[in-house]
Amino acid sequence: MQRLDRFMAAANALYYEAGDPFREFTTAPEICQAFGEILGLWAATVWAGLGRPDPVLLVELGPGRGTLMADALRATTKVTPDFRAALRLHLVETSPTLRAAQEALLPEATWHEAFEEVPSGPLLLLANEFLDALPIRQFVHRPFGWMERFVTEEGRFLEQPAGASAPEAPPDMPLGVVIERCEPALRLASQLGARLRTTPGAALFIDYGPAESAPGESLQALRHGRPADPLAEPGSADLSAHVDFQAFAAAAQNAGAVVSGPLPQGLFLARLGLFRRLDRLAQGHDPALASALLAAGRRLTEPDAMGRLFKVLGLSHPDSPELPGFSP
Ligand code: SAH
Repeated sequence: MQRLDRFMAAANALYYEAGDPFREFTTAPEICQAFGEILGLWAATVWAGLGRPDPVLLVELGPGRGTLMADALRATTKVTPDFRAALRLHLVETSPTLRAAQEALLPEATWHEAFEEVPSGPLLLLANEFLDALPIRQFVHRPFGWMERFVTEEGRFLEQPAGASAPEAPPDMPLGVVIERCEPALRLASQLGARLRTTPGAALFIDYGPAESAPGESLQALRHGRPADPLAEPGSADLSAHVDFQAFAAAAQNAGAVVSGPLPQGLFLARLGLFRRLDRLAQGHDPALASALLAAGRRLTEPDAMGRLFKVLGLSHPDSPELPGFSP
């Protein structure tokens, strides 16, 4: 029997190591090159606002195939060569398979197992669909108190008294309600917040989940592209959970960072010029390409696709100028 977060960590480690995780789902950078390009130019703009520190660390957490960063670097090479020359690329990735894929696209990078290994200094950090992959604990409200979920060998939940780990929740929570807690995300928020308190820099997290903490269970599995039982056949499915942006932002703020957002992804990308960029990409090409680009842009921004469930959260040093994209 294993605590749910340990089960999830082990299952995802197997899953991300096994092969190409993107057989199950398509992330924003895999949908459209303009996504990474825009984030690269966002980083360059923030860098200029910080007084152009040289060198500056450009960090990505969970870079997947490396597509987002490759698109970001291509855009900065063209548009902001000074930033391109000043940046030192640091990638945080635990999967050996995905590291190899990243190395093929981004040979200049230095890899780390965890954020705390990234050297100190001014930094710009990007993370797309990273937090949702981190393991969660789940607590269930029962008549005799809070219970915690464990996973049995047979792939079923078993509840044990939560004791001192019980969530801080109002006593009138309905019975049967589930509360989730992602401890690695909260630790990361504290570490990053503490770093941003003293070091110039900013971070951008893009992921799915509600803007405000809410009870309820969100653990989900995708196997062969379809929703599946998260507890069956560990390592054969992608396990993820909604990100609690409110708790993540509070942890970063308590440690000393300034928080921007969360904002719906669609609004953020539109403000940063996604559709102008798509128009530019379509120019001089046949109408089929133009309409494919428009469809990709819509998928990233429309409320019933990825535009609303996906949120963007910014963290920054107290003296840094306002982060681009967070105000009209
Ligand atoms: N950002 C990419 C990939 C998202 S999938 C994209 O948008 O396409 C999640 C990524 O995080 C994968 O690269 C996975 O291997 C990595 N990952 C998951 N858990 C991790 C952990 N604890 N530490 C570092 N990387 C992790």
